[in-house]
Amino acid sequence: MKGFFKIPKAVNEPVKSYATGSPERKEVLEQYNQLFHSVIDIPLYIGADEVRTGNTRKVTPPHDHKHVVATYHLADETIVTKAIETALEARKKWSKLPWQERASIFLKAAELIAGSYRAKINAATMIAQSKTIHQAEIDSVCELIDFLRFNVQYMADIYNQQPESSAGIWNYVSYRPLEGFVYAVTPFNFTAISGNLPASAAMMGNVVVWKPSDKQVYSAKVIVDVFKEAGLPDGVINVVYGNAKMITDTILNRPEFAGIHFTGSTSVFQDIWREIGNKIHTYNTYPRIVGETGGKDFIIAHPSAHAQQVATAITRGGFEYQGQKCSAASRVYLPKSKSDEIISLVKKDIASFKMGAPSNFENFITAVIHEASFDKLASYIDRAKASDQAQVVAGGKYDKSKGYFIEPTLIVTTNPQYETMTTELFGPVVTIYVYEDDKWTETLDLVNNTSEYALTGAVFSQDRYALSQAIEKLEDAAGNFYINDKPTGAVVGQQPFGGARASGTNDKAGSAQNLLRWVSPRLIKETFVPAENYRYPFLDKE
Ligand code: NAD
Repeated sequence: MKGFFKIPKAVNEPVKSYATGSPERKEVLEQYNQLFHSVIDIPLYIGADEVRTGNTRKVTPPHDHKHVVATYHLADETIVTKAIETALEARKKWSKLPWQERASIFLKAAELIAGSYRAKINAATMIAQSKTIHQAEIDSVCELIDFLRFNVQYMADIYNQQPESSAGIWNYVSYRPLEGFVYAVTPFNFTAISGNLPASAAMMGNVVVWKPSDKQVYSAKVIVDVFKEAGLPDGVINVVYGNAKMITDTILNRPEFAGIHFTGSTSVFQDIWREIGNKIHTYNTYPRIVGETGGKDFIIAHPSAHAQQVATAITRGGFEYQGQKCSAASRVYLPKSKSDEIISLVKKDIASFKMGAPSNFENFITAVIHEASFDKLASYIDRAKASDQAQVVAGGKYDKSKGYFIEPTLIVTTNPQYETMTTELFGPVVTIYVYEDDKWTETLDLVNNTSEYALTGAVFSQDRYALSQAIEKLEDAAGNFYINDKPTGAVVGQQPFGGARASGTNDKAGSAQNLLRWVSPRLIKETFVPAENYRYPFLDKE
């Protein structure tokens, strides 16, 4: 095939409403019920093989933790080594495949998710990650499709970036895949991230060993099914689960380890980074280290802010998906003059929330992901109840008898350094600090200096001077900064996502910047008529 092929223009996948009576609502509920009442067996995927080690764990919905929907098999060291070697073998053909063939596979995957797999990937995400249908749709369907479509476009944009050539020579750049394999490590909270981290590296011609979170294995299986049906060759993405430390150690010991694409908590990422540093002499090439990690995301309202708008941003930005988005607002700064009004509006919203299984579409809140998270959140809530620096003004109850349910909880503190203002809790807990109206500038400094993280943040104000000051003073406090909007809900192609400081390497998932990390450019200079005499004119006699 010869030609400069044009990529179909990427557009964001429209979000379906799932309104009462809609066909998509009926279809997803049927799929949910069918999956919920079956037990599937999830193998490891090594090349063409589905590997079953017999050492299994159960998948149970967080909102109904005694109910089993699947078992999955754990890898041992031999399997992880097999995954690496299978990937390296696949690299021989995959890295040479013309880019448009790779593009075609991932564009087809996007279409499959938009169509025949839509209900299934939504239902799987609802069941095993306890997302409401809306949260599942914007994540596992729309965001994943957008990642695939936009990244194909960015890939073509990258290949189009070519140097100038002067007379008699031709310069060009070949965007080679990394020399080795990429390790993708993904979190529980976004099916889209889980699909994107291995896919973005693979799209650029790399081979991958992918380790999904134990709590996301169920929807990861749907992603594997989609990639297979889309025609991804065996061995390009190999999937292992099990002891994360053992898997990571086995991978980091290999000279062919060429990069890690990680999303998860800061401490895990920092440990991996340290390990890579310790083993730097092992590797054939300097590994690419890309990680998006934790956050302690803020909303600050100026005295001029519209109370209802701030309240809605807190409600949606803090509590949707039980606060388990890396971008979720969890520390809020309100001016004294508006605080009572905003707090009472948020309390009214919280009082109207229904909590329970995602199969009941009236529920806005479902369960948190696992028992360890539940216990951690409960302990922070208990300490807040007992503290003389904090007051629980809404929620505060929890119950794990059937599912890991934590009531959306609003804390007001008098100490801006109180533990729930500074620690990433990753749950439905929002803490408010009320500042004196004339301390706006000082409060911006407080927002900037309170947290080690810098992922997302939002400012609400009707006063342009105040906004301008916030934009300036909070320059380093967030990688994604929102003006008069909640700090969650980044859309691929519109708000590339990532944070700095302890929140990650800020390589912006869903952008050309991220894809550039998965290539190693090779510059080729060709001279048409080479020189035949070493001497320059200045060497001639006077
Ligand atoms: P986690 O750190 O517990 O797990 C993430 C991945 O790391 C999982 O696959 C897990 O099995 C693996 N892991 C755990 N211990 C490991 C080890 N010792 N060695 C290697 N791998 C290991 O995170 P999580 O609970 O799945 O996700 C929540 C975290 O992810 C939060 O901190 C959140 O802020 C962050 N997150 C960040 C972004 C972002 O874009 N910045 C997006 C989503 C989630």
